[in-house]
Amino acid sequence: MDVMWAPWRMKYIGSDKPAGCIFCEKSAAGSDPANHIVWRGRQAFVLLNTFPYNNGHLMVAPYQHAGNLEDLAPDVLTELMMLCQDAIRALKRDFKPDGVNMGINLGSAAGAGVKDHLHIHVVPRWQGDTNFMAVVTDTRVIPQSLDDSYRILHAAFKALRG
Ligand SMILES: [Zn+2]
Repeated sequence: MDVMWAPWRMKYIGSDKPAGCIFCEKSAAGSDPANHIVWRGRQAFVLLNTFPYNNGHLMVAPYQHAGNLEDLAPDVLTELMMLCQDAIRALKRDFKPDGVNMGINLGSAAGAGVKDHLHIHVVPRWQGDTNFMAVVTDTRVIPQSLDDSYRILHAAFKALRG
């Protein structure tokens, strides 16, 4: 699917893909705002998807580089789910979605873009967001920039967990 207005995409197109794992690289990098890491827990963190399906498309991932759900310890699993709860609370607070898709793609056959480091997608949905443009032209319009989404969601997490 093409994204019509997506200035952040230019950086991606213009540079080589990172050789390593984006989840490990982003969590180890210095600047959370630059990497759109919305919140850090003890075992897991919340970040915005750089190539969102919708405004406010969040991902919750463990710091542990693991591709299999069955490799995660109970305390990691617990925190992943609690961060998903807060992701949904934050989205409901400020994005007012009509619904939310939440899920994990395990393995490339299941659609995982990064199959070696599992992550839970939390995608806000609005009535009619499978809109005319998407259906007819396979093009999605994403009106909000990632930096705007970051500011809103970081403030929401701070209010929830601060
Ligand atoms: Zn990783």
